[in-house]
Amino acid sequence: MSNHVIPTPQVHTIPTSSGDTFPVRRVYCIGRNFAAHAVEMGHDPDREPPFFFQKNPNNLDASGEFPYPPHSSDVHHEVELLVCLKSGGTNIALNQALEHVWGYGVSLDMTRRDLQGEMKKMGRPWEIGKAFENSGPVGPVHPASEIGHPDKGRISVSVNGEPRQEGDLNQMIWKVPEMISYLSEYFELQAGDVIMAGTPSGVNSIVKGDVMEAEIEGLGTLTVRVT
Ligand code: MN
Repeated sequence: MSNHVIPTPQVHTIPTSSGDTFPVRRVYCIGRNFAAHAVEMGHDPDREPPFFFQKNPNNLDASGEFPYPPHSSDVHHEVELLVCLKSGGTNIALNQALEHVWGYGVSLDMTRRDLQGEMKKMGRPWEIGKAFENSGPVGPVHPASEIGHPDKGRISVSVNGEPRQEGDLNQMIWKVPEMISYLSEYFELQAGDVIMAGTPSGVNSIVKGDVMEAEIEGLGTLTVRVT
């Protein structure tokens, strides 16, 4: 048997509501999944096919702190439903998609909007704007066996107590089963894969010292300080 030639990178985990951990394999993020957010970003809100980008598993961070990242002066919050899979496969049927979900949490898709904008203009990939260290603050994952499969409910974020983003999960253009089914046509989904399910309108900049409170009805509040 051969040995690793470098120390083995750790499997990244995020907390669950019971205190156990959820190991993360991949992070898929959907773009423009709320019509009002698509409009604010300058796009047609019609139901175009969904599109996804990825963050890195170890970008997810439950520390409650968000270190302001380098090379940006316009970092935005995007509050999103986090969907965590316990199994996967390819070509998953719509009516079986939810059977693959272990649980749900609150997350923030933190975005270096200025860098993302430059990449969009040049037709380049978005990773530099989206997949940086600590770019995915998360709260604990709640098991679907306890809370069910939320398809409606208030999703919001406030900064220093002032409302910023607000919407309802029932406004998602692509629903959770549709995202799972669609992704599984292009990728093999597996246990540990998570989906960040898109953000309502009201995205805006944060600065050092701000306190973000992201909330989804039934999933609690994720409080994150910008450091
Ligand atoms: Mn997003």
